[in-house]
Amino acid sequence: ARPHVVVIGGGYGGATAARYVRLWSENRIDVTLIEPNASFISCPLSNLVLGGSKRIGELTMSINALADRHGVRIVRDTVASIDADQRMLALAGGQSLRYDRLIVSPGVDFMWDQLPGMLKPGAQDRILHAWKAGAQTVALRAQLEAMPDGGVYAMTIPPAPYRCPPGPYERASQVAFYFSRHKPQSKVLILDANDDIVSKGPLFKKIWKERYNGIIDYRPSFRAADIDAGARTAISELGDQVRADVLNVIPPQRAGAVAVRAGLANANGRWCAVDFLTFESTQANNIHVLGDAIAVAPLMPKSAHMANQHAKVCAAAVIDLLNGRPPYAQPMLTNTCYSFVSDHDVIHVASVHAYSAQQKTLLVVPGAGGVSSAPSALEGDYAMNWARNIWADTLG
Ligand code: FAD
Repeated sequence: ARPHVVVIGGGYGGATAARYVRLWSENRIDVTLIEPNASFISCPLSNLVLGGSKRIGELTMSINALADRHGVRIVRDTVASIDADQRMLALAGGQSLRYDRLIVSPGVDFMWDQLPGMLKPGAQDRILHAWKAGAQTVALRAQLEAMPDGGVYAMTIPPAPYRCPPGPYERASQVAFYFSRHKPQSKVLILDANDDIVSKGPLFKKIWKERYNGIIDYRPSFRAADIDAGARTAISELGDQVRADVLNVIPPQRAGAVAVRAGLANANGRWCAVDFLTFESTQANNIHVLGDAIAVAPLMPKSAHMANQHAKVCAAAVIDLLNGRPPYAQPMLTNTCYSFVSDHDVIHVASVHAYSAQQKTLLVVPGAGGVSSAPSALEGDYAMNWARNIWADTLG
C-alpha cells in the first residue's frame, strides 16, 4: 500500500506540510488533512482590521486548492484523540484513521484557568482576545468603533513565549493609528506581563513617541492574574486594578489541546519538544509537531513564517523516513516578521536559524538577520508581498 501521512490542522504549518509532502514525493504519498474550519483566515495582517485599513474578507481564503491541485484529501472535522501505539486517530465525527506518519500543527490554545474570571458565564463573549483571526477580530473592531472619544482601550499581554512576539505591539500601533485619526482624546494602555517589549522594542518605543505621543501608555511587568469581565477590569498579581472601556485580553498560551491531550506537550506541560532535524516529537514515534505548538529553539519566534519553514523541513524528513533514507542533516530556516505601525508604514525583524549538530538545536546565525532602522512605505510593499507569497506557498 502507498504510505499515508495524516496532517492535523490546515493553518500555516499544517497546510504547508500537506502541500509539500505531495509536491516533493511527486504524489507518491497519500496525504489526508483534518481541519474543522471551512476557510483559512490569516492572523498576519489581522491587526489591520482593528486599525480599519483591511477587512476580514481580504484575509479569508479557501483551502480547496490543496485538494484540487495537489490531491490532498481534506476532511472537515476535528481530531478528538491520537493513539500513538496503534498509529490511529479518532475524529469528533466518529471516523477513525490510520497513519504511517502523523503531522500535528494545531496552533495554540488559551490557558483560561490562569485568569479565573474569564471562566464565568458570558465573560469570553464580552472580553475578547482576537488572537485567532476571525469573528473575534471583527467583534473587537466593532467595540473600538462603538467606544466614545476619550475612552481607554487596554490590552493585556501574557508572559513569553506566546504566538507572534511583535503582534501585541503592532496591535497597539494599529489601535493608536485609528484613534489618532478618529478619536484623538482616546488612549491605548498596554499591560505587559513581560519586563520589556520582547521584539523590536526600541524601535516601537521610538515610533510611539514620534507618532502616537500621549496616546500609547506602555506599562511593563503587569502580570494579569484575573479579569473582572463585568467591570472590564484587569487585576495584576500585585492587586493593581485597571479599568478600560475596551479590554482586550491576550491570554497565556500553550500547544493546541489535541497535542496536550495526546501527551505531546512534554516541555513544562505547555509545548511539544521536537527533534529539529525531522520535527518528530521527542515523546512519540512517527508523530511530528510543527508551528506554534512546539517548544521553540533559542530566539525562534512563534510565527507563520517559522511554521512554514518547520513544515518544509518536516515534509522533506517525512518523505526521507518513509523511503528509508536518513533526513537531511543541515537544515537552515529563515524568518521575517513585519509589523504595520500605520496603514502603510512597516518595520521588520529578520533572522536565520541553522542546525547545530553539537547542540542538536537550531541556532541564530550571527550577523545574518537585522531590524529596520525606521518605518517606511517601501517595507509596507514588502510586507504585502510577503503575505501574498506565503498564502500562495501555504495554500497552493
Ligand atoms: P494555525 O495557523 O493557528 O493553524 C492551526 C490549525 O489547526 C487551525 O486551522 C485549527 O482550526 C486547526 N486545529 C486545531 N486543533 C485541531 C484539531 N483537534 N483537529 C483538527 N484541526 C485542528 N506570523 C508571521 O509570520 N507574521 C505576521 O505578521 C504575524 N502576525 C500575526 C498577528 C496576529 C494578531 C496574530 C495573532 C498572529 C500573527 N502571526 C504572524 C503568527 C501566526 O499567525 C502563527 O504563528 C501561525 O498561525 C502558526 O501556524 P500554526 O500552523 O502553528 O497554527
